[in-house]
Amino acid sequence: MARVYNFSAGPSMLPEPVLKKAAEEMLDYKGSGQSVMEMSHRSPEYEGIIKGAEASLRTVMGIPDNYAVLFLQGGASSQFAMVPLNLLNKSKKADFINTGTWSKKAISEAKRYGTANVVATSEDKNFSYIPKLDGLKFSPDADYVHITTNNTIEGTKFSALPNTGAVPLVADMSSNILSERMDVTRFGLIYAGAQKNIGPAGLTVVIVRKDLIGNAQPITPVMFNYKTHVDEASMYNTPPCYAIYIAKLVFEWMLENGGAAAMETVNKQKAAMLYDYLDNSKLFKSPVVKEDRSLMNIPFVSPSEDIDKKFLKAVGAAGFVNLKGHRSVGGMRASIYNAMPVDGVKKLVEFMKRFETENA
Ligand code: PMP
Repeated sequence: MARVYNFSAGPSMLPEPVLKKAAEEMLDYKGSGQSVMEMSHRSPEYEGIIKGAEASLRTVMGIPDNYAVLFLQGGASSQFAMVPLNLLNKSKKADFINTGTWSKKAISEAKRYGTANVVATSEDKNFSYIPKLDGLKFSPDADYVHITTNNTIEGTKFSALPNTGAVPLVADMSSNILSERMDVTRFGLIYAGAQKNIGPAGLTVVIVRKDLIGNAQPITPVMFNYKTHVDEASMYNTPPCYAIYIAKLVFEWMLENGGAAAMETVNKQKAAMLYDYLDNSKLFKSPVVKEDRSLMNIPFVSPSEDIDKKFLKAVGAAGFVNLKGHRSVGGMRASIYNAMPVDGVKKLVEFMKRFETENA
């Protein structure tokens, strides 16, 4: 069976050893005579899975004890509301750096529950860069500052974090969590949809400093209150059991393969291969300024829509799928998360070089 190289922005590739292990355990999880999908979430077997997932994630990311780890549902999109409902509780003001489509969604949702100030934006140049952080003025009484650490659609990432002083920094890390070493203590709260570097869609991971929990706005629905899920260890209701199980296997795969530091080394190598080619190509180019380029999502453009179409057809037929750019920006985009093998990027670049020669 031939597996394709899948460059989707998410859901995206999972590590092959994880899929194989899940296949082996599909009908009979460790002698229990059942699949993880069929198991009660209150069973001792499942308790081992969810606790094991949390323990491995804590190790992979170096999450200290004063942070809670939550396995929720509703995607990062639900966090756009859950964060303000829980954290807009003093001045009811939050500061945002607007770096693209997903930041904008976070901003518009926060506006329902308080004041959302945009302290910097890169909208003037189609979000092709990250605003300079030096000299940024945050509101000293803001309840939090929100950033999108990696912009999945625009292909940019923060290479440094803003200094927010005592104001908690909240990050939508959906598309670069686990892709490199990350100092969790710099953040008050991190959230991420699972379907890129963590596991299957349907699971949302939240890492939150414990002192920020417990002061949600009174209108907050029970399911949208972090305290509900902290108190019940992500078992207030039925959690996304199978997605958590696969995430556990992914965290273990990372630990067996050198952890976040090793992922970072390989991710830099993969991204460099593609960017080096794009910077030297006469046909394709990257629209993103060099210093702010994402390691995970690499958009690129050609001189015309006809060439885009021809390229996408040819590249798909050669076994490289989902390279079409996001509908809002067009062109192409290669998403190269942790599970994308080095060989996948190498072969894609070789294909692009051949295509360029044939279409010069
Ligand atoms: N934020 C970012 C940075 C994303 O890339 C995405 C999804 N691609 C979202 C938020 C929305 O996530 P979800 O579909 O899990 O709600």
